[in-house]
Amino acid sequence: MKKKENDNSLEKIVSLAKRRGFVFPSSEIYDGFTAVYDFGPYGVELANNIKATWWRTMTQLRDDVVGLDSAIFMSPKVWEASGHVKGFSDPLTECRKCHSRLRLDALLEEAGVFADEKMSEEEINGIFEKSKEKIKCPNCGAADFTPGRNFNLLVQSNLGNFTGDWSKEPTYLRGETCQGIYVNFKNVMDTARVRIPFGIAQIGKAFRNEITARQFIFRTREFEQMEMQYFVKPGDDKKYYEEWKENRWQFYLDLGIAAENLKWHKHENLVFYAKEAYDIEYNFPFGFKELEGVHARGDYDLQQHSKHSGQALDYLDPTTNEKFVPHVVETSVGVGRTFLAVLCEAYCEEEVAGESRIVLKLAPKLAPIKIAVFPLLKNKPELVKKARAVFDHLKLDWRCEFDDNGNIGKRYRRQDEIGTPYCLTIDFSSLEDDDVTVRDRDTMKQERIKISELENFFLAKLKK
Ligand code: ATP
Repeated sequence: MKKKENDNSLEKIVSLAKRRGFVFPSSEIYDGFTAVYDFGPYGVELANNIKATWWRTMTQLRDDVVGLDSAIFMSPKVWEASGHVKGFSDPLTECRKCHSRLRLDALLEEAGVFADEKMSEEEINGIFEKSKEKIKCPNCGAADFTPGRNFNLLVQSNLGNFTGDWSKEPTYLRGETCQGIYVNFKNVMDTARVRIPFGIAQIGKAFRNEITARQFIFRTREFEQMEMQYFVKPGDDKKYYEEWKENRWQFYLDLGIAAENLKWHKHENLVFYAKEAYDIEYNFPFGFKELEGVHARGDYDLQQHSKHSGQALDYLDPTTNEKFVPHVVETSVGVGRTFLAVLCEAYCEEEVAGESRIVLKLAPKLAPIKIAVFPLLKNKPELVKKARAVFDHLKLDWRCEFDDNGNIGKRYRRQDEIGTPYCLTIDFSSLEDDDVTVRDRDTMKQERIKISELENFFLAKLKK
């Protein structure tokens, strides 16, 4: 889909996502819960397909990446060592009039003033002071703000603490999944027969006390990450970094995202240990924004955990006998952000015979439902029976949906809106000839296919 400037497609996507059971605001019957969302019946299918595609690409199709599923809770020492307890923060200001809490770097950026989240509190505040006249509260329009301060994003909990006053010694819900990978580096190395270079991939929930939560599921306080840490010999960073940049870009093209809606953003202000950092940005309806980070992190994380735990986290090269602490190339993306990018990319409105149709042109591998099976008429038992038999057979291999409600046109529209690539109708001639009408979502063309050939037909069509 080509996007127009200032179109309102985010509103349309939010509305479709709710109407068709992709995404619901959390705890909606209690007026919702800010920055947390639930995936509905089709949403969970789409999210699962995104995760399965990532997992297949990152582990199954490689012989140098293994998987991991580490716990959400970890020793608080992990977060001390990683630097999150001290430094995992965003600059926060408050509007003195309406008391909205706002992310200062985002406010500056919206006002066209350059600021980077990696700048220090002093740097950002310095810019803030100089550009105050340009900045207005997005909620009430006032221009009166408290001085900026750094706000730590780690979410605290009382897990395992029974003293009643746990806030002095909190445990944390993980702020990113990769720390689970670093602390298991030695376990994996000792058990999985891996040799440098190798990677560890993980999909899991992460939690951040995000200051401003807007733009639907783009930025949420509970979200899922798909992260991979690739451990390399010092000096080989650049080579593997370039390889991973290429692989990750191709991943989005393979999800059906047009290259023109993707771009690289180079981090100019690197954190002190990083060697190189680029983000892949997607052209969301609210502009190009980060989808995935591809970062060369040096040996910082393993060195920190080695220092704090007292455990050697180095690698002994079996051929050269060299010992070193590996460097890391990281790829990191959110499931929800990918979900939103994929929805934005797939959403189309078309004119068909004077009527408009909404269709999600999802890659078949991502579509929540692959095939919808319809009996032409609900009140003809022989049609329903045959359609059920076809459905029961196809569902063994693909996520299918049986629908006998309303006229066929309406059933097509519903499946178009959830992105089902194929609809299949059993009609009276199916009873005679054992064939069905298969209708293609994108071209809307229909063809007759023998029931005995359906499996091969869909095997070829649903691969992508
Ligand atoms: P941002 O600058 O948008 O806050 P970040 O640079 O802090 O993101 P990372 O820590 O690099 O993000 O996280 C890696 C990926 O995890 C991001 O590219 C994004 O896809 C996803 N992600 C991070 N924070 C969130 C969030 N609050 N909600 C949804 N996805 C997130």
